[in-house]
Amino acid sequence: MKEREVVVIGGGFSGLMAAIRSARAGKRTALLQYGSGAFPLNSGLIDILGYDREKNEVKNPLEAIKNLPKKHPYHRIGEAAVRSSADFFLKLMEEQGFPYEGSVTAHRHVATAIGTWKPSSLVPASMDLPDLKGKRIIVVDVKGLKDFDGKMAAANLTERVDSVVESTRIELEPVEGRDITLLSCARFMENGGWQKAVEALRPLDAEDVIFLFPQVLGIQGNNVYRALSKALKGSVVETTGMPPSANGMRLRDVLLRAAWSAGVEIVENAHVIGAETEGKTCKYIRVQAGVHEQHYSAERFILATGGFYSGGLYMEDLQKPREVVFDLPVSFDKSHWTDKDFFAEQGFMLTGIATDESLRPVDAMGTVVLDNVRIVGRNLDGYDFCREHSGNGVALSSAYKAATF
Ligand SMILES: Cc1cc2nc3c(=O)[nH]c(=O)nc-3n(C[C@H](O)[C@H](O)[C@H](O)COP(=O)(O)OP(=O)(O)OC[C@H]3O[C@@H](n4cnc5c(N)ncnc54)[C@H](O)[C@@H]3O)c2cc1C
Repeated sequence: MKEREVVVIGGGFSGLMAAIRSARAGKRTALLQYGSGAFPLNSGLIDILGYDREKNEVKNPLEAIKNLPKKHPYHRIGEAAVRSSADFFLKLMEEQGFPYEGSVTAHRHVATAIGTWKPSSLVPASMDLPDLKGKRIIVVDVKGLKDFDGKMAAANLTERVDSVVESTRIELEPVEGRDITLLSCARFMENGGWQKAVEALRPLDAEDVIFLFPQVLGIQGNNVYRALSKALKGSVVETTGMPPSANGMRLRDVLLRAAWSAGVEIVENAHVIGAETEGKTCKYIRVQAGVHEQHYSAERFILATGGFYSGGLYMEDLQKPREVVFDLPVSFDKSHWTDKDFFAEQGFMLTGIATDESLRPVDAMGTVVLDNVRIVGRNLDGYDFCREHSGNGVALSSAYKAATF
């Protein structure tokens, strides 16, 4: 078996960040992955903490972490790791030519596809709104594009800003009788279609204009955003989008390339099916590779398999939830599985693996179960990211901490 120091299981946001950090810390690191995790579902925004327990938007996310319930993973991760992980991420994205803006102590507000505001902490340059003072917003609709209604977005924005908000509809390609998806439009823009957009918008172009596009500015890197920003006098900004999210896919693409260049050994189509343990140590994990089984040993294993959504946790008939690789204990409250109030905290979202402060898995008594395993991202128990808007924040900071040596 090849000598590896760290093996990361799962290539979603937390797995990729853990692998990059580990390799950059000089550890021989392998990332075992299949599928693309939740990248195509989320807009690639890094929410640290959007809302408090009373559903009010928090002013300072880092400060607001102090008021979270004791079981929340941020208390185990610690404020220092939340702050350092954000710095690490911002620097990494800058280096990769895919810059993000923001901080963990204040919110930025991005425009959603329906013309409302979403608070977030770290925001890609293409979604970062400039100061609205003295600006006009022109929402850019694309003929035939489904899942986006420029007029509705403009009407909703008008209620929220002092600026003048208009909408315009441009035609990128003849589409009689069929719908264009956000992704096919993003691909078209990437393959030169952005020039058609520039031609169509030229008559409206001026320095005081913000062109607000649906999330269609390409699916790889930010070339389309940069090309449009260069060609137009007005500012170019994207909204969040309905899944599949072009920006989530761009973020994955950028992180995969960053992992390659950091020297991470990326193993594709690697379905981890179990582990061999001895006492409190995992010796190796078992990977299904076609009809064969391969074993990966390491000093540390980082479990980033994404909870129920991505198959890291599994449950039948509301009985005992299972963690599929190490068969770890799963913290679960059957009496509080769902709440009738759709927007209340949901018990199934809190279900996950309890850990100590080093993110090692613990049992119901708080005793460490495996010394050389770390739990990250959606596998962690004790937080409902949908309600509080903390998903990628917990994923990033737990990954950073798990890959600290
Ligand atoms: C609709 C939606 C919108 C969201 N929007 C936002 C947002 O705007 N801002 C925000 O901060 N967060 C958002 N989130 C939350 C965010 O997506 C998650 O916090 C994040 O994806 C967690 O990353 P992860 O790596 O833990 O899990 P995942 O992204 O689920 O990745 C887990 C990976 O592990 C792999 N895996 C599973 N089992 C195995 C196995 N046995 N062997 C090998 N690999 C395995 C899976 O294939 C997958 O690739 C959103 C989530 C959803 C669902």
